[in-house]
Amino acid sequence: MGGWDVTLVEAAPFLGAGVRTMYYGGHPHTFGPRHFLTPWPHIFEFLNTYVPLRRCADHQFLTYIERDQTFYDYPIHMDDIGRMPDRTEIRSELSAITMEALRGLAPSELAKLDRDQLLKLNGAASAKNFEEFWVRSIGRTLYEKFVDGYSRKMWMIDDNKQIDDFTWSPKGVTIKEGPRAAWDTAISAYPIAFNGYDDYFRIAADGVAVHLSTRIERYDIANKAVVLKGEKRRFDVIVSTISPDILFDRCHGELPYVGRDFHRIVLPVEFAMPEHVYFCYYAGAEQFTRIVEYKKFTLHRAPTTLIGLEIPSRNNKLYPLPLESEKAKAKKYFDMMPDGVFSIGRAGSYLYNVDIDDTIDHAMKVAKALKS
Ligand SMILES: Cc1cc2nc3c(=O)[nH]c(=O)nc-3n(C[C@H](O)[C@H](O)[C@H](O)COP(=O)(O)OP(=O)(O)OC[C@H]3O[C@@H](n4cnc5c(N)ncnc54)[C@H](O)[C@@H]3O)c2cc1C
Repeated sequence: MGGWDVTLVEAAPFLGAGVRTMYYGGHPHTFGPRHFLTPWPHIFEFLNTYVPLRRCADHQFLTYIERDQTFYDYPIHMDDIGRMPDRTEIRSELSAITMEALRGLAPSELAKLDRDQLLKLNGAASAKNFEEFWVRSIGRTLYEKFVDGYSRKMWMIDDNKQIDDFTWSPKGVTIKEGPRAAWDTAISAYPIAFNGYDDYFRIAADGVAVHLSTRIERYDIANKAVVLKGEKRRFDVIVSTISPDILFDRCHGELPYVGRDFHRIVLPVEFAMPEHVYFCYYAGAEQFTRIVEYKKFTLHRAPTTLIGLEIPSRNNKLYPLPLESEKAKAKKYFDMMPDGVFSIGRAGSYLYNVDIDDTIDHAMKVAKALKS
């Protein structure tokens, strides 16, 4: 492959991890939604070459708010505020945020501002923690309804003030205006093929010595060597997508993650959610964070529909915690890596905001570095 002899070691009995297509009740699905969302046309074009993609630009997400017994759009949509029982309070909080931001500005300066600039003026961009960011951006009432309980559930924490690395949030939007479709500023797509992304894994592993259901027994990263199936092997280059603490016997301590338990439910209806709705988030005391109707992505035709339900858990490690102290710990591991060792992907970077497109971008950067 590109002049290199490549050895790929994978703990699971298959390639692709959660992006691999599984089947339940005849329905193809992944572990969680795994739709391809990217602001980068060249990454879209790259993946589209190997697994032709269908755009799903119309997708809408909802959040269920039990205290209002109502579903609203997610991201929070300005036009939904009029439907909320506490709209007077919400509007007054939002206008206080605006007033605070505008204090002392000349009318000529005001005219030039968009919402993002307003947020920065309000100090939301320099907030010290996740809670402060959101309260300064949308006010306390909307924060408590949509964000507080969801985030504590998602990260399995008691207090959102603990989250001090939140540059990933909220995907550039706090309150949305305009079209209802979620993330309409990015390309959103899903593979056309019945087996989803799977052909990509096969093509990517062509010419590679693949060891499935295998773990490295011992790492000697300083010397770019590992023990694989009882044999010590030295490599010119190591590309790792696992948690960096594992590569160094956790000498600086374990890096924390949150995982998900995943449940599949087939329902005796052709569609469970309204036409453009692909996911529903649950922001309250429910144990689960979201449900996904897979057919919306796969366009699988059947008289039944498949719902995937995700419950935060410690049974697997899928989401690096967004805490500066843990990022600093991860950096100690990165600093121990010699030239020719690349730690990439979500766990490999120890960054929550690494999605499918970012993992491709990381791999492309490694390929470029190896060519130069
Ligand atoms: C529930 C969920 C839903 C998501 N939905 C989306 C989405 O809709 N859109 C999007 O863009 N992104 C989504 N993501 C994120 C995205 O899918 C991941 O960030 C991306 O796939 C990570 O790729 P990766 O190669 O870094 O890691 P992974 O795909 O996790 O690959 C790491 C591999 O390492 C293997 N491994 C682990 N430990 C060892 C070991 N010790 N030895 C050998 N092998 C090991 C694992 O089995 C796995 O195959 C989602 C993530 C989750 C958890």
